[in-house]
Amino acid sequence: MSSANGRPARNRVEDSLDYPLGKRRPAAAETIEIAAGVHWLRMPLHFQLDHINLWLLEDGDGYAIVDTGLQLDETKELWLTIFRRFGIAHGGKAGKPVTRLIVTHFHPDHIGLAGWLNDLLDTELWITRTEWLMARMLYLDSDAVNHRSMADFYALHGLAPELADRMFSGGNTYRRRVAEAPFHHRRLCAGDVLEIGGRRWEIIVGTGHAPEHACLWCAGDDILISGDQILPKITPNISVWASEPDASPLEDYLGSFANFAGLPDDALVLPSHNLPFRGVQTRIGQIVDHHRVRLERLSGGFADGSPDGSPDDSGRARLSAADAVPLLFRRELDTHQMGFAMGECLAHLAYLEGEGTLTGRLDPDGIHRFERT
Ligand SMILES: [Zn+2]
Repeated sequence: MSSANGRPARNRVEDSLDYPLGKRRPAAAETIEIAAGVHWLRMPLHFQLDHINLWLLEDGDGYAIVDTGLQLDETKELWLTIFRRFGIAHGGKAGKPVTRLIVTHFHPDHIGLAGWLNDLLDTELWITRTEWLMARMLYLDSDAVNHRSMADFYALHGLAPELADRMFSGGNTYRRRVAEAPFHHRRLCAGDVLEIGGRRWEIIVGTGHAPEHACLWCAGDDILISGDQILPKITPNISVWASEPDASPLEDYLGSFANFAGLPDDALVLPSHNLPFRGVQTRIGQIVDHHRVRLERLSGGFADGSPDGSPDDSGRARLSAADAVPLLFRRELDTHQMGFAMGECLAHLAYLEGEGTLTGRLDPDGIHRFERT
């Protein structure tokens, strides 16, 4: 919302963004044409976050689809209703073609139905190489390796081994949320331009939330399909995972905002969650501030004599990631939230280690702890 003098009215952080449709959003199986030829639809998620936004882009006599929703019967039914409503050819029924199936990144809510849609619509998957590889790889992980690797990693970082074991006892949950991603794909690279319905969409790659997340930028009409890279109300999960324990995803994430530096603040942003908005640079600034505050809070918890730490002989606080989670998350966390919280905490610890504020090492009790450098 804008105030009378044209500057954003600042109440809560998200109020400083402009939501062109207010709180309006498409109901299940309905669409809103958010820009000429760009149709916004929503699919359900059964998490605290209860929806994902997807996009249908008019493309000549057909449509390109951006992202797919989770593999749920309910989502499939909603897609079929949309195809009937838009007269889209599917499952042998004649109609308008789907020219491309574009997926921003490998997370289940984005790629979950790509395999199903790809077959049903006889189209092709367009995706960056790393996201395709991640989707293919994670689908094939065995339950046992997934369970053991994750549980050991979280125990190394200070979570009680029994809790870590229980947390990941479900094994490969990724495979249960996605249809097998298509074997054949068309590779998207940073800087590629896709011509869709008379618009030129440039691929801008973001990192940190996912390794090679594709965003679509139309400079002609100032529209950004931002995926999860830039969200208006929440910040995307930035986590260190067992598969790459030395990663510094927060450094990657904040660094990749440089790829968005040239975008005008009044561009229309179409995010995967919550509402379309204007104010992309404002929002990037808010997200950077959000992480800066958390980094300060976290490093403050390592200050000499901190009551949260167990001081060593020198009196310095030494904390594992599990010890440090309450510094970042002050609310009670259930088991599912704890998984994400540990990953996020590790991402912030890795950032502080990377900039030289903290040093981590393995203690004789087999737990990795950090202290001030
Ligand atoms: Zn995501």
